[in-house]
Amino acid sequence: MPSTFTHQFNTPVFKGDVEFSTGLYIDGKYHDGLTRRTIDVINPSTGKLITQISEGTPDDIDVAVKAAHHAFNTTWGLNASGRERGDLILKLAQLMEDNIDAISAVEALDNGKTFSWAKSDVESVISCFRYYGGWADKIQGKTIETSQAQLVYTRHEPIGVVGQIIPWNFPLLMLAWKVAPALATGNTIILKPSEFTPLSALYFAKLFNEVGFPAGVLNIVNGYGSTVGQAIAEHMDIEKVAFTGSTLVGRKIMEAAAKSNLKNVTLELGGKSPNIIFDDANMEDAVKWAAFGIYYNHGQTCCAGSRIFVHEKIYDEFLHKFTEFTKSVKVGDPFEPDNFQGPQVSEVQYERIMGYIQSGKEEGATLHHGGQRIGDSGYYIQPTIFTDVKPHMRIVKEEIFGPVGVVIKFKDEDDIITMANDTVYGLASAVFTRDINRAINISNRLKAGTVWVNCVNALNPAVPFGGYKQSGIGRELGEYALANYTHVKAVQVNVNMK
Ligand code: NAD
Repeated sequence: MPSTFTHQFNTPVFKGDVEFSTGLYIDGKYHDGLTRRTIDVINPSTGKLITQISEGTPDDIDVAVKAAHHAFNTTWGLNASGRERGDLILKLAQLMEDNIDAISAVEALDNGKTFSWAKSDVESVISCFRYYGGWADKIQGKTIETSQAQLVYTRHEPIGVVGQIIPWNFPLLMLAWKVAPALATGNTIILKPSEFTPLSALYFAKLFNEVGFPAGVLNIVNGYGSTVGQAIAEHMDIEKVAFTGSTLVGRKIMEAAAKSNLKNVTLELGGKSPNIIFDDANMEDAVKWAAFGIYYNHGQTCCAGSRIFVHEKIYDEFLHKFTEFTKSVKVGDPFEPDNFQGPQVSEVQYERIMGYIQSGKEEGATLHHGGQRIGDSGYYIQPTIFTDVKPHMRIVKEEIFGPVGVVIKFKDEDDIITMANDTVYGLASAVFTRDINRAINISNRLKAGTVWVNCVNALNPAVPFGGYKQSGIGRELGEYALANYTHVKAVQVNVNMK
């Protein structure tokens, strides 16, 4: 039998107990992995062990796939009405709301994001399930007129068993973006959380089970990317894989899908998003949003505004105010209510970010502010600003995934479009101006899946999100995401019976 994780939180923001199984959640039950190996879960605030969870393997994926196929063919898929699916999804959203503080505390403990931001994530998770719960009984095809005597209509049918692989930066939110539309459209699921942040998904499994979904509809198999993730991507009986993570791994997923059963693939990948501040922008707002753009979630955000472009006329004033604001960003224990930024998620990420800071210095950029570790335990890094950067530098080109921004001067609209689009990525972008014509013109010319005007990081379950170029394939959220999880079937009926 797998073990149970019990933890007593006694923090300024949450006091209470949590308890859930650390096993693999397959076919409505918890199991040890077939090898009975475990994975250590580390607290990023201290570097110490929180608990151990069961480690899955490709053989466990086989067991989960069988359970998911059985559920699809007997209790879910075309066997559960949209109304039934929607009711269960909405019940699940309510149960999460009833437990919101406990879930948020688990997320903060495991990921290192502050409790208040973890709670904001869980609020978004609940909204996402409510949004797709509403869609479940509105999955409709069309009737189509043709020149022949035919009744032609389309059906939007679930794909079947789908695989989902998610990262550690928004553990439960990335689960919601994938699980909610897949359930609403009638698919059954094999989900692999990140090995760095598995706990909120296990808590979620407990609530999912309590709601009364049929066994096998959702299977959560923890494990490493190179084993469990790879097994999902290449499985012959998984008909779709949805992946969020790095561009490097995204390529491997596509390759595995191509070499196995040509499964349908959607990818949400990395970014190096431009944040463009024109000279007519409201300065105070632009400063705050720019800081939010790069320091939110400790810079571990795929859409982080990591390249901050500022019009030359206001560059000095902006840099001064942005630096002052940066100094006021409080970094520390995720459970202290005043802190905005907690530790980076893991030692690996900490080392990676410090490596980028070192490369910036070595390549000749000016380390304008920050760049140091905070404390000697936990993975805390000062919010960091580089200036005097050149386009070829790694800190300008590559995704750092940490609280490190580069501030760059620009002259005019053509200049900024060239610089902003000079990246292999195209996930998000932001424009700060009071001129609506300029805002729309620049938005049209930016090669990115999202353009925020006078704001950043605004996400809503109704609004599609995804990347141009190497930031991904397909769109999550909104009505658009339903297409990721449905096949379109055309039915042509000869009405003349000849
Ligand atoms: P990662 O690519 O290292 O890992 C993501 C997931 O893939 C993990 O569950 C991991 O175990 C798994 N994985 C690793 N190797 C695998 C393989 N060979 N086959 C199958 N699965 C494998 O990314 P990460 O470090 O967890 O997350 C950070 C990255 O995610 C960043 O690049 C970030 O931009 C991106 N991200 C993108 C979005 C988006 O919506 N576009 C959202 C969040 C994060």
